[in-house]
Amino acid sequence: MDVVIYPGSFDPVTNGHRDIIDRASKVFPKVIVSVLDNPRKAPMFTREERVEMLKLVVKDYPNVEVDSFQGLLVDYAKKKNSKVILKGLRPMGDFEFEFQMAITNRQLDPELETLFMATTNRYSYISSSVVKEVALFGGDISELVPPEIYEFVKKKIVNV
Ligand code: ADP
Repeated sequence: MDVVIYPGSFDPVTNGHRDIIDRASKVFPKVIVSVLDNPRKAPMFTREERVEMLKLVVKDYPNVEVDSFQGLLVDYAKKKNSKVILKGLRPMGDFEFEFQMAITNRQLDPELETLFMATTNRYSYISSSVVKEVALFGGDISELVPPEIYEFVKKKIVNV
């Protein structure tokens, strides 16, 4: 098990995501954090911006790489020679959807395993949507996003 893929929208990356990346980097030899570029979704940040923010956040992790992908996760995992997908799990609402995705992906590729890492308690309420909502109405997001991207997010929201 060399490479694990941690996929998501990361619109934007939050302290919850960063915590999962930090812990994953200590468990797996290599982590690829990959931004899902889904043409059916309308993210606030472009794919390039989401990648750029993640790169700022993981710059001190030699075994973490940032990438992006389109299409099926199983195809992407094969391309990256990975047999493991990592997902973060929050207590509110993640389970049903993630369970469905994990089973679907195993149907598509029985070799591919999905592993779940439970959120750290103090980050369990954080989502990208919460960050956008708070920032949009002028609230303080310093507890929600990594310091490296704080200004990036503020600037973008002001310009929306
Ligand atoms: P969201 O928009 O809900 O924040 P993403 O698609 O960006 O979700 O999330 C990518 C992955 O990170 C998913 O596996 C999601 O469950 C996980 N995740 C999101 N927020 C947290 C958090 N606060 N703690 C742990 N895992 C999280």
